[in-house]
Amino acid sequence: MRRRRLAKIVATLGPSSRDPETIEQLFLSGADTFRLNFSHGSHEDHQLTFEHIRQVEAKLNHPIGIMVDLQGPKLRIGSFQNDKIFLQTGQEFVFDQDLTLGTQERVCLPHPEIYSALKMGDSILLDDGLLKMEVLQNNHTNLIMKVIMGGWLSNRKGVNIPGSLLPLSALTAKDRVDLEFGLKLGADWIALSFVQKPEDIEEIKSIVNNQAGIIAKLEKPLAIEHLESIIALSDALMVARGDLGVEMPPEDVPTLQKRIIRACLRIGKPVIIATQMLDSMVRSPTPTRAEASDVATAVYDGVDAVMLSAESASGAYPVEAVKMMDRIIRRVEQDPFYRQEIDAHRYESGETTPDAITSAARHITQTIRASAIVTFTSSGSTTLSAARERPWSPILGITPFVHTARKLTLTWGVHPIFNQDIQDITDMVSTATRLAKEHGFSEVQDRIVITAGIPFGTPGKTNLLRIARVGIEVT
Ligand code: PGA
Ligand code: MN
Repeated sequence: MRRRRLAKIVATLGPSSRDPETIEQLFLSGADTFRLNFSHGSHEDHQLTFEHIRQVEAKLNHPIGIMVDLQGPKLRIGSFQNDKIFLQTGQEFVFDQDLTLGTQERVCLPHPEIYSALKMGDSILLDDGLLKMEVLQNNHTNLIMKVIMGGWLSNRKGVNIPGSLLPLSALTAKDRVDLEFGLKLGADWIALSFVQKPEDIEEIKSIVNNQAGIIAKLEKPLAIEHLESIIALSDALMVARGDLGVEMPPEDVPTLQKRIIRACLRIGKPVIIATQMLDSMVRSPTPTRAEASDVATAVYDGVDAVMLSAESASGAYPVEAVKMMDRIIRRVEQDPFYRQEIDAHRYESGETTPDAITSAARHITQTIRASAIVTFTSSGSTTLSAARERPWSPILGITPFVHTARKLTLTWGVHPIFNQDIQDITDMVSTATRLAKEHGFSEVQDRIVITAGIPFGTPGKTNLLRIARVGIEVT
């Protein structure tokens, strides 16, 4: 099973897609990593979904990444008696801490911090900024609001308070429970929402203790002030445009998105562009052309992955959305201008031995038109630095750790293979050529470029580069 593209697809699973048949279809249509959104669903739901993904992985014999996305201090309203209400512009509405189901007049907003922080005239945005309200009166246990921009409001919609700094930590009590549960399931990635400072990453890292990779979701203006250090501490980054776009004016999002992408590409950390990419496909079998263009822009910019949220989790066309993303990515990657863009944005390589080897591997690949770069990796770092070079040939990441193989499904240009550890150089060459051929990357007579670290099995020690011809042992 090989993908005919370099950028990857992350698909969120939910009620429209978490049955085994749909998961298999989503994978076959192009989803590389699945996201479980812990803002919704019970632990039982997530455990079942997790098991279904692993069954599909075993059946199709290809690593699949699973991301557990923690809600973080995302403020949400409670649920309604009839699931949703319509709010007229100009009407009054009440937020309180009463846990019973909401009505046309009131709903629960179960975050005490808000009641102590808000004053008259402060505004609250709901449902990614679609609705807006203003505080008329703060009674400390409830808030009387005036609806400034009305509309439908349904169960558990998000609440943003852009103007006020709320005293909230990045890991809530719910997140800690969810995190423990996610790690027990065996998640490959843990995504942390509303990161504001490097310490937020350090805190979660000390709990995760290398059992999973950490994804920092960039969705707070404050995080941008610490961008470089947050990227350095994280294993991957997500431009979470839903909340980011509510907390910041729309015109700031595109420039910020490009700035974050460049910063990630410079360091060589995978970056995911998320939210609303094909939003109209929640209801419609085809996207707007502006949405197609949004996906394409991210791909031209060289991102590792693009993500589907509601489109694949709760929309009417989950499989079509993945297929559409796959088509857009492949179309862009066939454009000669795409290569020019990627080459124009490549950053100088670092000064370590592994950097020198991977940079040389890219040059050689280009010179001899090698059909693949084959990297042997334990932690994935060698493969990541190969990907950072954005080479002309696909990259194989061969690893004896299934967890590493699964995480590499998120990385640009990488085809991960879980395979037992190699013993010596002869074994390395025969394994690399055999797997490149078996997985459909090389034909007999093709040349491949191999990188590895000797002695074998020591992480981060890439110091060997070898050219081999498939089917013939070259010495
Ligand atoms: P969410 O994160 O879907 O968990 O809110 C993504 C975003 O905010 O864009
Ligand atoms: Mn968010």
